[in-house]
Amino acid sequence: MKKLILFTLLIQCLSVFGQYNDRPNFVVVFCDDLGYGDIGAFGSPMIRTPNIDQMAAEGQKWTQFYVGDPVCTPSRAALLTGRYPIRSGMTSSERHVLFPDSANGLKQEEVTIAEVLKAEGYATAAVGKWHLGHLPEFLPQEQGFDSYFGIPYSNDMNNNGFFGEYSKNADDPNYFSEIDYFDVPLIENTTTIERPTDQTTITKRYTERAVQFIEKNKEKPFFLYLAHSMPHIPLFTSKAFKGRSKASLYVDVIEEVDWSVGQIIDALKVNNLDKNTIVVFTSDNGPWLLFKTHGGSAGPFRAGKGTTFEGGQRVPTVFWGPGIVKSGVINEMGSTLDLMNTFAALSGGKVPDDRKMDGYDLSKVLTQKADSPRKEFYYWAFAELHGYRTEQYKVHIKQRDPINYGQPTITLDKPELYDVRADISEKYDLADNFPEVVQTLLDKMEVHLKDVEGSTPDQLAERLPKE
Ligand code: MG
Repeated sequence: MKKLILFTLLIQCLSVFGQYNDRPNFVVVFCDDLGYGDIGAFGSPMIRTPNIDQMAAEGQKWTQFYVGDPVCTPSRAALLTGRYPIRSGMTSSERHVLFPDSANGLKQEEVTIAEVLKAEGYATAAVGKWHLGHLPEFLPQEQGFDSYFGIPYSNDMNNNGFFGEYSKNADDPNYFSEIDYFDVPLIENTTTIERPTDQTTITKRYTERAVQFIEKNKEKPFFLYLAHSMPHIPLFTSKAFKGRSKASLYVDVIEEVDWSVGQIIDALKVNNLDKNTIVVFTSDNGPWLLFKTHGGSAGPFRAGKGTTFEGGQRVPTVFWGPGIVKSGVINEMGSTLDLMNTFAALSGGKVPDDRKMDGYDLSKVLTQKADSPRKEFYYWAFAELHGYRTEQYKVHIKQRDPINYGQPTITLDKPELYDVRADISEKYDLADNFPEVVQTLLDKMEVHLKDVEGSTPDQLAERLPKE
């Protein structure tokens, strides 16, 4: 009996030891249009997100984490490539994002996180919204992912004019649309398996796929990119969550996303992977305020999606990884642009050195709570440089309408300067008080504009010929 106990202990020690020595797994949970203020841990007074809150309590909650662009397609390109989307041509002044009639997507010569990790022997899966090109040559398997399951673009596309109907009903917090008004395909690898997608079960089905992938790859390092279609409008939930919050459909939707996060964490624990996995939870841009009760909240920040105000680009972000990530609140800058360098550092992978990159390695912040190496951020939108932040100061030279970002860009008569540490709502323009600071920041923008000269041309503007 004693021998058996000793033997069991030895095996347990070895498996724990093994966990610590293996290269870590990475899971990125990327929501769509989720606002900074839509998570309990980030101050939502009414949305219950116990699983994400638990991640934040055990891991690192980042309060100044930026997406590389305030709309879907460019933001995804930024996360996966570690480059401002202007460099890859994945931002455009003509079309905001890719559409079902778009002719292009993320060019194959771009190097994604999945490709970097695949080269190190990682299993890779993309589950959810892609939005980097729906034609076969642009789908996830062409960008380093072993498999794909999801809606290849926004869940409101192919809507036959119903988009207008949806916005008319956006005052009704429980307005629940018909699934077939949005004729979006569900794709498995490269094959359409359902059309229109039954979006009422989409969060549930993405979650099931994610859990299956974790179970299947528990013996080898893996990278799971789970990009939820929710809470981008049209909002849908499964039956179990419809009306559950007794607040609104938007709240129901976030509660289902939180349930999904809980399923992922449980799967990691059940398979003894929790000590050797980093889960990142974040959003692709701020809330879509035009859709009123169907859009989220940017919390204390000004404006939302599509703008370069903090509400458009600062997103609620948690890094969880007991055994790797040192718990705490990080009140320093980070960005989705940094995931490439960070994952490469933690896995032994190689960041491309044959092109200009925009990321920083945050691994020492995660493991030791070192100071963040990111000290600056350029605010790009619709292929135009709107602003720049270093330390507490942020300068704007261009802006978009805070609610309806689809309006043309506004070029300011004179630059505005905000102290985004003290004045997080960007209310008090300090430009007249600190002209020398304004000039220093403008000079940095000039240098950056020179640095992106000769980038890949616009990949979003071209349309497929009409059938
Ligand atoms: Mg989005």
